[in-house]
Amino acid sequence: MMAKPFASEADTAAKDEVLEVIGEGVYALTAGGDPTVGAIEGDDFLVCIEARATPHMADKWLAQLREHTDKPVRYLVLTHYHAVRTLGAAAFDADVIIAHDLTRALIAERGQQDWASEAGRMPRLFEGAETIPGLTWPDVTFSDTLTIPLGGARGSLELRYCGRGHTEGDLVAWLPAQRILFAGDLVESKAALYTGDAFHTDWSTTTLDAVANLGASTLVGGRGEVAHGEDAVAAAIEQTRDFLMVMRREVGAVHRDGGTLPQAFEAAHAALFEAYGHWPIFEHCMPFDVARLWDELDGIERPRIWTAERDREVWAELQG
Ligand SMILES: [Zn+2]
Repeated sequence: MMAKPFASEADTAAKDEVLEVIGEGVYALTAGGDPTVGAIEGDDFLVCIEARATPHMADKWLAQLREHTDKPVRYLVLTHYHAVRTLGAAAFDADVIIAHDLTRALIAERGQQDWASEAGRMPRLFEGAETIPGLTWPDVTFSDTLTIPLGGARGSLELRYCGRGHTEGDLVAWLPAQRILFAGDLVESKAALYTGDAFHTDWSTTTLDAVANLGASTLVGGRGEVAHGEDAVAAAIEQTRDFLMVMRREVGAVHRDGGTLPQAFEAAHAALFEAYGHWPIFEHCMPFDVARLWDELDGIERPRIWTAERDREVWAELQG
């Protein structure tokens, strides 16, 4: 069998982008499984959700957004620390960049390594990499909830922490008045899950319960389609949970029986393939996902740092 190309290195075709107006003054840009971005209008300002991987890529999103509104960006909200969602921040010229406390700590601890890792895994997303001025540092962080009044009848935007999940420090952005939820990578809608920095047990139980309990009727996940309507929202959350539960079951069984990491990879891959194998970044994610879950089962509390070198080693062991 031919060795699979590393991560998303061979994925060089630009994806079709779709800007949807998903509520009154609420926008989401999906891109065929590439990271989703969003924006919310306040009375005389914008809140942008996610920054993309480079200012150059962020400018392309902003050009589309500017066909709908010319309000200045007061707040840029980062759902978590991953480079493909943070390093384009400079393009927004935001007054305030907001993230969770633990996201700030993760950027300090491993932001540099994550930058190198993600640029190697997903080179297409880093178009215009020379426009990145450096790591993105949040100006304001919080631990539990942070509320942004949008002005007038628009209500408020609530930034909330739902527990450990895709990373240690994911936040969700919730618009109660319109029941619209930006879930970041805590929920994927018809895209595979990246769990290389995840806490599988918390994520698949209490964290997703907290996300579901918000009662969204529109959900924008980290990748994939916008889920419109309560049924589609529930399906996206349950798809995310199922992916995690199958991984926990399959990798857990091999781990308990004294098997090896490659055996766990084969088992998880086989169990997930039929339902999820055709979705974006499935093959890319699986080695990193299983490697992290294996560590979690070994009692390694916090995810080990992914470096460009470790990426290649794990890939060679499991997908090579
Ligand atoms: Zn992520």
